[in-house]
Amino acid sequence: MSQKLKIDRTEEPGTTRLVLKGIIDEDADFDAAFADVKPTVVVNLEGIEMINSCGVREWVHAIQAFPKTARVVYEKLAPRIVEQVNYVANFLGHGKATSFYAPYFCPKCKKEANVLLSVEAMARASGGKAPTEKCPACKGTMEFDDIEEEYFSFLENIAS
Ligand SMILES: [Zn+2]
Repeated sequence: MSQKLKIDRTEEPGTTRLVLKGIIDEDADFDAAFADVKPTVVVNLEGIEMINSCGVREWVHAIQAFPKTARVVYEKLAPRIVEQVNYVANFLGHGKATSFYAPYFCPKCKKEANVLLSVEAMARASGGKAPTEKCPACKGTMEFDDIEEEYFSFLENIAS
């Protein structure tokens, strides 16, 4: 079903890019991939399917390996990660999230779809409301498929 954590690392001038896929649990090994990073670190969390409580502990410990001087950017947070950012203080350490996925549901197609949202745009828009999104298949209006006050609560902490 789920796959173990896989980390793809690529280097660009001044930037280390990390793309994480699979599940984060007690077996997750970040050490090699998170070591000796460039001044900017971009962490893509789009492919995370699951993170359990042991995984949260491993993760919070692992991101402390990033130098305090590094600019750490988390992008495309999967819904499972957004839940953790909402519940676990310090889940992103001194890093910043730029974009994240929000779960939607199309009542007509009876299908779920994750929509990528910009943290900046959401912070600018008022009230932590889910933006209106059209279904990619039928172009009908989709419903936000979670509790807005909970799902978007991390934006308040990030904006400050
Ligand atoms: Zn639809």
